[in-house]
Amino acid sequence: MKPDFQARESVIMGNIGIMGGTFDPIHNGHLMLGEQAWKEYQLDEVWFMPSGHPPHKNDRKVTDPGVRLAMTELAVRGKTGFICSDFEVRRNGSTYTSQTLKLLREAYPQHQFFFIIGADSLYEIEKWYEPDQVLSQAVFLAARREYEDAHPSMEKQIAILHNKYNADIRILHCEEMDISSEMLRERIAKGLSVSDYVPPEVFEFINNQGLYQEKDKSMIDDITELRNDLKEKLSPLRYEHTLSVSFICTALAMCYSFNLDQAELAGLLHDCAKHYGNEEIIKKCRKQDILLTDDELKAPVVLHAKYGAWLAEHKYNITDQEVINAIRWHTTGRPDMSLLEKIVFTADFIEPRRERAPDLLHIRSLAFTDLDECVYQILKNTLEYLESKGKFVDSVSNQAYAYYKQVHNEKKGETR
Ligand code: FE
Ligand code: FE
Repeated sequence: MKPDFQARESVIMGNIGIMGGTFDPIHNGHLMLGEQAWKEYQLDEVWFMPSGHPPHKNDRKVTDPGVRLAMTELAVRGKTGFICSDFEVRRNGSTYTSQTLKLLREAYPQHQFFFIIGADSLYEIEKWYEPDQVLSQAVFLAARREYEDAHPSMEKQIAILHNKYNADIRILHCEEMDISSEMLRERIAKGLSVSDYVPPEVFEFINNQGLYQEKDKSMIDDITELRNDLKEKLSPLRYEHTLSVSFICTALAMCYSFNLDQAELAGLLHDCAKHYGNEEIIKKCRKQDILLTDDELKAPVVLHAKYGAWLAEHKYNITDQEVINAIRWHTTGRPDMSLLEKIVFTADFIEPRRERAPDLLHIRSLAFTDLDECVYQILKNTLEYLESKGKFVDSVSNQAYAYYKQVHNEKKGETR
């Protein structure tokens, strides 16, 4: 029976290297090992296979399998012969190597598998679950490393395992690379860069997702304090809306690999000035010398965004200009918005408590597939609504609409 996971593997028949690991995170050492195996043993492909629920790592909270799979996918993308495989991630329960190899052989009887291991594993493999099963189901490629002290030489250890289990173990000749995932996690927690140790795409992903950073307790306290403050100031309905927007902002940030903390914060603060009435907000803006345009005076409802951005900076001590801008432009939008501006603008429109806008179902799904098109549809929808009600439209909204309409038309032109 073929197991029911998605096979992303591509050759029909061949010699396949299996590079397994927790990959938490995947790093250049893993890639180098895979490449050496691919070259030295003329493998057709090397499948990088993040473990699903590693049985031996129960003492530490391993990063979500989907996240490790995403990093693996980024690390191997575009590299000839390298495949990211979700074979283990899709299985439930603990994933033992003996089981994985058995299932691999059942699913792909036409392939010969070469299981790539670090030299250290040669000395530990007898402690793995069902070592006889493990060693009989694949050729093992063990990365070369000399042991002069406590261990017998690699050749000796290979001979021991061969005699005991009839194992086929071959040496993989590669330079030693002093990198471990543990070391990288420690570096990130200390605020040190890991850009020299992982591919740039993985580096960017780790940064955007805020992975392995020790969450500053004060930051969590700040968010809780901020929520409490908003709960006091905003009406219950507005507060619920605020939480929903913040939640959707983080969901969109996950979808577009944006920093979750920035998205959460911008979502929480986007309506922080919404509890003031129009007259009150105009007065407050004037008091702070915030320039008001004629358009804003004609439709002061948009002003809570401008004053909210001021409050975020001066009352909530936000220094992150991206967050401030996302609050600033969340009502009107503007041409060529930043990713965070689009995220907040969109989340404000699609959050689950909003019900009235026409076409919401379509716009909600667009949000997660084509953000520019989604922004265009939201602007179109909003302007049509305002016009139908004879209401004034801020010229910045019109400019934003014109900009995203052009993006929309260009895309349409391309697909024709
Ligand atoms: Fe608002
Ligand atoms: Fe809002």
